[in-house]
Amino acid sequence: MTSPTNRRVVSFHYTLRDPSGRVLDTSAGGEPITYLEGAGQIIDGLDVRLRETVAGAKTRVQVPAAEAYGMHDPNQVRKVKRKQLPVDGELKLGEQFQAGSDRGAPIVTVVAIDGDDVTLDANHPLAGVDLTFEVEVLVARAATTEEMEHGHAHGADGREHCH
Ligand code: ZN
Repeated sequence: MTSPTNRRVVSFHYTLRDPSGRVLDTSAGGEPITYLEGAGQIIDGLDVRLRETVAGAKTRVQVPAAEAYGMHDPNQVRKVKRKQLPVDGELKLGEQFQAGSDRGAPIVTVVAIDGDDVTLDANHPLAGVDLTFEVEVLVARAATTEEMEHGHAHGADGREHCH
């Protein structure tokens, strides 16, 4: 993704829905999301679609799967034996765990259980899902020089310190 030259910091509330209208996630009742444009702090497909928004705007943004969490890759789905899994106790459909002990090992989801055979999906849970964000923009301001150097936002007012 190309970074805009006059980058902004944007703070927004959102509700994320799948194509059936089911709410997948929302910031309502919590902290808004604050990000620096083009810094990879939110998914690219949303970042580029919010470039024209202004503070106070309420908008609906549709992000196709390919520009959100990617398409679902069937090669990331595989069948393993239950005893190979690092899970104690009962295994449930939809359960997620890290496949391996490395930091950054993929999170896999149990998508089928057939006796000793367990089918795991290493795709992101939202892979292949077209996303609709209802967005309310709270703040849209020019990024500070320090934020651009750091590559992230320092809070909605630009005064938050980072570590
Ligand atoms: Zn910083």
